[in-house]
Amino acid sequence: MKVDVAITGGRVFSANGGKDLDVLINGEKITAVVEPNSEGIEATKTIDATDLWVLPGMVDPHVHTREPGHTHKEDILTCSQASAAGGVTTIFGMPNLKPATLTHKDLVDVLGLYAEKCLVDYNHNPVPTLGEVDAMAETGIAAYKVYQVIDTGRDYPHPSGTGITDSGHLLQMFEAVSTTGKRFMVHPHNQGVCDRVEQSFHKRGDRSVEAYAKTLATHDGLIWDLATAELIRMSEATNCPLHLVHVQTSRGVEMIRQAKERGIDVTGEVNHWALFLGSWDIVTKLGPYALSYWVPDHHREAIVKGLQDGIIDMVNSDHAPHTREEKEIGWTDMWACHTGTPGIQFQYPLMIDAVHRGEFTMERTIDLCCEAPARVFKLDSKKGSISAGLDADIVLVDPNKEWTITDDIVLSKIGWTPYNGRKCRGQVLRTLVRGTDVYLDGKIVGTPGHGKHATPD
Ligand SMILES: [Zn+2]
Repeated sequence: MKVDVAITGGRVFSANGGKDLDVLINGEKITAVVEPNSEGIEATKTIDATDLWVLPGMVDPHVHTREPGHTHKEDILTCSQASAAGGVTTIFGMPNLKPATLTHKDLVDVLGLYAEKCLVDYNHNPVPTLGEVDAMAETGIAAYKVYQVIDTGRDYPHPSGTGITDSGHLLQMFEAVSTTGKRFMVHPHNQGVCDRVEQSFHKRGDRSVEAYAKTLATHDGLIWDLATAELIRMSEATNCPLHLVHVQTSRGVEMIRQAKERGIDVTGEVNHWALFLGSWDIVTKLGPYALSYWVPDHHREAIVKGLQDGIIDMVNSDHAPHTREEKEIGWTDMWACHTGTPGIQFQYPLMIDAVHRGEFTMERTIDLCCEAPARVFKLDSKKGSISAGLDADIVLVDPNKEWTITDDIVLSKIGWTPYNGRKCRGQVLRTLVRGTDVYLDGKIVGTPGHGKHATPD
């Protein structure tokens, strides 16, 4: 058999485990995965993966590229470069842009920007604005996204039209999305409880990091749990597939478990910051630089178990870059700070590091980071695993390389990472998107526009 590329000598992982195999590529696709040193294979190029792990590229359906509108923080090119260096080969952008992705036209415009600039494969989740939903579905999107959040005293990061707090309006959106067969991605949040609790801090003049963290975690996760219950019930009522972002409470995990048992099509994600930055000592030490949300230890234990058991489906980055300036103000007024945490470049290595620490198995990690997001968003005929016929989205990892994450290797435009100084075992050496190198030996080698729209089946 003649092939363009043979990746030989490595250990290939899937959700079923790891095995020594050679991967054969023709053009953009994996042609075959064969026993090592199989006879009769002629490869134009051989990539020696001896002692390396050969992994599917990560599929990350929750990424804030910041373009259009907030390109002082990040743009599609820099975000996709950070993705390539982190072994992420498919990203889905979020609608909280300027303009926010509220209409079919907004969506077509933003997809045009990716086509021109993105290095890795992509999709984009618009808001299911009533009257726009069907036209949006025709563009090849995989999901829609809204927040149940209205920002207090500002129009960012949840600009007008992206935050829906009225249950009737939300129900109409569920009904509309249901007819498309696509999944509805929602940020669960009870705005009424949040407003009331934050006012109690503000009356005392307390706008600290700690006050913010405690507000969002009030009553052991009440803001999250009320919303999660409502969303699961709406999903059941409308027969609309639901994807819950930011699962981070023990009751949230339990509600997802029960919903799945009842046959409701609900999936959930945990974000890297909940696993690796959410503890109280890190929240107070790194303050606005770490804080998306505080995840108390007993909740983190529940979400880790949920990830291990398969109750929670995937780990996504929720990559949310902000400048140092936008973060610094959080030390004195966390409500004036842009919240959210960058991390697309380091989440896959940090998950592999967690495998070394015994937190997850490697096969479970491959499901959480690659196979499950591809399956849930109907990209699994192209993405998410190393199998014949699929896109050659492949990451070579030195599993035992010990290294330190530092600000100076950050490819995101902001130039900092909350993981600065953190030691990590397992390093991404090379990333291929559809058979082409986009990251190699510490350098971006992919070109803007290499990325293609990853459309669902
Ligand atoms: Zn997000």
